[in-house]
Amino acid sequence: METLRQRLRSIDQKGYKAYKAIEGTYRFPTFTLAIDHVQGDPFAEPSKVRVIVPRAKTALAAEWTDTKPRRIRCEDLLLRRVHRELRQWPLRARGSGKSGLVLIDAPGQKVLERTAVQVADETITVCLSVGLPANGRRILAKEAEAIFFEQIPSVIERAVYGLREEDIRPAVELADQQHAIRRYLREHGLVAFVKNGAILPRESGVSDKPLQCEAVPFQSPPELEIAIPIPHCTEPVKGMGIRKGITLIVGGGYHGKSTLLQALEHGVYDHIAGDGREFVITDSGAVKIRAEDGRSVASVDISPLIGALPYGKETTQFSTENASGSTSQAASMIEMIEAGASAFLIDEDTSATNLLIRDGRMQALVAKEAEPITPYIDKARQLFRDYGISTVLVVGGLGDYLDIADCVIKMEQYVPFDVTGEAKRIAAEMPSGRKAEGGESFGRIRERIPLPESLNSQKGKKAKAVARGRHVIQYGQTDLLLYALEQLVDDSQTRAIAAALLYMERKGWLDGKKTIRQLLDAIEEQWDRQGLGSVSFRKGNPGELARPRRFELAAALNRLRSLRCIQ
Ligand code: ADP
Ligand code: MG
Repeated sequence: METLRQRLRSIDQKGYKAYKAIEGTYRFPTFTLAIDHVQGDPFAEPSKVRVIVPRAKTALAAEWTDTKPRRIRCEDLLLRRVHRELRQWPLRARGSGKSGLVLIDAPGQKVLERTAVQVADETITVCLSVGLPANGRRILAKEAEAIFFEQIPSVIERAVYGLREEDIRPAVELADQQHAIRRYLREHGLVAFVKNGAILPRESGVSDKPLQCEAVPFQSPPELEIAIPIPHCTEPVKGMGIRKGITLIVGGGYHGKSTLLQALEHGVYDHIAGDGREFVITDSGAVKIRAEDGRSVASVDISPLIGALPYGKETTQFSTENASGSTSQAASMIEMIEAGASAFLIDEDTSATNLLIRDGRMQALVAKEAEPITPYIDKARQLFRDYGISTVLVVGGLGDYLDIADCVIKMEQYVPFDVTGEAKRIAAEMPSGRKAEGGESFGRIRERIPLPESLNSQKGKKAKAVARGRHVIQYGQTDLLLYALEQLVDDSQTRAIAAALLYMERKGWLDGKKTIRQLLDAIEEQWDRQGLGSVSFRKGNPGELARPRRFELAAALNRLRSLRCIQ
């Protein structure tokens, strides 16, 4: 500790580069400080440090982390506490550029596996970013001393040593309950659960926080209500269960259809207490599928949904730099089957109409031979039968879908009703006049093998894959655009995707033999066994990563304009 103080004093007022001298590990009374990486100048990305606390001296007993969901929850809890304590300090000390900033990877409403705080058997590691202070480019050692000898020890004291059992217990119990519901869904043929009383609408289109006033709490229709036993609670939780198969969410415009679907999309992640969606739980294999014209597609066999295009263009290995609405959505469906999805979440609002439906009149006017598209209405059942993939579809206008639904939920003034019986009666009384075009089976899925040159992030001499916010990864010469991934929920997930792409490239994982599914399995296994940070090439400090699902990683890979595949 004194070594750090001396080093700092000896470089006071010197040029910024002299800060390099403080890289190293220092023992403090209650923790170890590792200064892993010192920034090159005050305007560069802040320096990376780790604070390593001996766990035995904290309230975090072994039982609180004896399952993976529990460990992740405790890490999340500590992260939020450190973040809160850091905000008690003035955001920046005096100085230029990022001088005096002390940051941690701030979490939102979700609980994700992250690298920012890592709880191991013996230690708790907190990763911070520190803007080493300078005036112009002159080192301000006194300011740096205040950060390392006052601010960080005080934050660690309050956030980590100040942690009490009564803080841990509710967080861990919620984790246990959410986990129990996830397991229950899997074991009982359910895709999703929405608890009575849940608050689904959000504050605004750009906020993940709950709508404060005027939110109508969710209440299950009696026919769809189920009760799930959960730990730490004598009463089971009650709410609406959505079964496997084909479920429609219908209703008038502005009556809350998309809001329900979005809550289901987000339910693949756990939410913190107070979010309103703590007990909105969706099978973690559920994937939002939408149209995204303009995206690139590489050698996807979209023939189950879209047959030969004009001028005989085959679709068994469909590639384009500029997909249309329907081809983009069809490609996304096939890619997500390939990645192992268990359910598709689809909203009419964001779909290509012609991929969803071709009504009786259009069938009469345009012969099947002149229409490459087999609409989803004729394939959803086969998709479920052949691949076990359920559909939850929001429809406001496409009544033909009543024919194929197992369950129909009607939203009326934000309240759901089970109208399955009525829907079946109407479907029988008012035939759609359409002919089914889908055939007996969905069709074969050809797994693709990416070629090694697909991953090429070289820009000049350096490999470069850098996340710029949540929806853009600067990848080599081009930008990889992820705006359509509605289940990508955290900037740190995007960083992890960028890191994973770079990792696979440097390790030569694309050897022309592994399928995309095998690559996804391999990354997941690596994350499970060696930790999320193991894909990072930073020494010691993994940076700020949050774990994405395999589907978002697959979606990123599939949108790389350099992707080349063989089937
Ligand atoms: P739809 O898809 O049926 O047209 P939306 O789901 O987009 O309707 O909802 C329309 C508006 O109603 C949105 O602004 C949404 O935030 C709000 N809303 C949805 N559900 C609720 C609710 N339970 N309580 C209050 N407002 C809600
Ligand atoms: Mg809508």
